[in-house]
Amino acid sequence: MANETEAAAAAAQAINGQGEAHVISSAVDESKLVSDAVRSWPPHAVKDLLSIGVCIRCIFRLFGASEIVHSCATLLTSALSATVEKLMGLEGHMEHKDHGSKENPCSQQSSEGSELEPKLCKICLGILQFVYRDNREMVVKRACPYDFAVFITELVKQERHQIDSFSLEVSIPSSVVENEQAVWLYMKRKYDSELWFQEKFRADCLSAKDFLKLSITNPLETLLDTKYNLSSPLRIRLTYTHSEVAIKVQKHVEKKEGNKRIKTGMSSVLHQQPHRLPSCHLNCADDMDTRVGNEIAGREYSDFVTSEEYVSTRLCNVSDNNDSPDLSQFEVEKVSQPCSLTFLCHRTPVYIGGRYLKYSRNVSQTRWIIDDERMGEASVEEIIGSNILPICRGDNYKFHAAGREDIDVRMLGSGRPFLIEVQNARRVPSEMSVKEIERKINSMENNLVKVKNVKVVGSQGWSLMREGEAEKQKQYAALVWISRSLEDDDLKTLSSVMDMPILQRTPIRVLHRRSPLEREKIIHWMKVEKIAGSSQYFLLHLCTQAGTYIKEFVHGDLGRTHPSIGSILGCRAEILQLDVTDVKMDCFLTE
Ligand SMILES: [Zn+2]
Repeated sequence: MANETEAAAAAAQAINGQGEAHVISSAVDESKLVSDAVRSWPPHAVKDLLSIGVCIRCIFRLFGASEIVHSCATLLTSALSATVEKLMGLEGHMEHKDHGSKENPCSQQSSEGSELEPKLCKICLGILQFVYRDNREMVVKRACPYDFAVFITELVKQERHQIDSFSLEVSIPSSVVENEQAVWLYMKRKYDSELWFQEKFRADCLSAKDFLKLSITNPLETLLDTKYNLSSPLRIRLTYTHSEVAIKVQKHVEKKEGNKRIKTGMSSVLHQQPHRLPSCHLNCADDMDTRVGNEIAGREYSDFVTSEEYVSTRLCNVSDNNDSPDLSQFEVEKVSQPCSLTFLCHRTPVYIGGRYLKYSRNVSQTRWIIDDERMGEASVEEIIGSNILPICRGDNYKFHAAGREDIDVRMLGSGRPFLIEVQNARRVPSEMSVKEIERKINSMENNLVKVKNVKVVGSQGWSLMREGEAEKQKQYAALVWISRSLEDDDLKTLSSVMDMPILQRTPIRVLHRRSPLEREKIIHWMKVEKIAGSSQYFLLHLCTQAGTYIKEFVHGDLGRTHPSIGSILGCRAEILQLDVTDVKMDCFLTE
């Protein structure tokens, strides 16, 4: 770990982009800001909080002075401690230590140096001290928010993301909120009658989670050279978990199961002093540590009471003892290990849409493998996806299309709308590289699939595709054989059809994967194209409502589709080939 002062100086220098003189002056400004803030607080209460092991940033939060992180980018712990120490008249560390242990046997004081700062804050479990366990279970301490932001920046850059803005998501164990509640209760019991407690203490308090965000947002903006934006698609996620706390919750539950006398429920506490509980403290709890406890114990989630119930019990134990001034009742759990920190940087999906045409009767729409054997020679999904994915440098992709055609049906005309959803793209392709993707697919030698009007669309591309999908019309060309010669009357009969309703029971060939239903569909129109030199073969052009089973409409599917070409003409009819010639949707119809 870098020396704290050096790191702070480097941070100040980087933030201000100026020389040493400025560093010194900002350090002076910072300590002045800090002492101004601290001066208005009751010294004995600050001392008390330090003695029970609350970190300095949490003290700033509790006194509603969170905005200090804006002006004090480095918010140097030692500088703060020194200021507090001076103002409190705490010259000797030993004196403080003795005092602390007398007042609260549970307090765990740092034995290193002359700092008042606890090793691990009893409230935030070290999160606001920038102490955590990394993915190799090593304990890491960053000197200041800037130092922490440097570490995050390195990780973001390792992922080689295109960075045009970023958002920040922080998840912390719910026990942090509980610890804060317990500390508040401890303070309430001692200082409830004092004016500062009634007016100021925890009245305007930022949650630990928001305080952390506030502390590192500015340094991250500087280091990543971009702006924070709540709705940015590039998400930086910090997840703190704590298994030790989770185990304690579980132990508590087991104890509670064997001891019915312990009262539970927050309601009594809330009822006593509802105005003293600012809403922010209770609504930001995560149930994360309960979940971790669940994994550790291998028990069902429902076996656990919530961690809120756990803290309520702890709190009630305290508040029930109002007659007795024995403050040793107060327990904020001792925690010896900091939280584990998991870092994730990812981009919300990038959507690339267009229309595809399929010229082969041996290419499936999506990847189709049965018992390790590929059906068809390729798939539309893979041909398009494999060309887009490397350009976006994404983790993987999903293929969506407006409807589907069978493997042996060609997709012609204006093509079918599709959407490729790229997961965690490191790069959003420019208009030029999208055109390049299009050229590449269209110049493939096998000429199985072509694409057009390909473009990057927002997530609205999704609704565009779904919009009007049920109402849309589709046009087909079918090569039909009938068991007798085609007469002129047949041509008239078929071409006179206008918006004819038909009933289709789920086709036999798809019954294994679709539920048996009867659907009404509309045949909008039909046209017959004769084939020269053949009386039993003809081309049937037809326009139908989306979702009509065309093959079944031709042969009748043993009476399951009615009427059908066979039943209308009064003979056997078979379909030999089918092409989709148009999908009537506006989606991706133009460049
Ligand atoms: Zn803290």
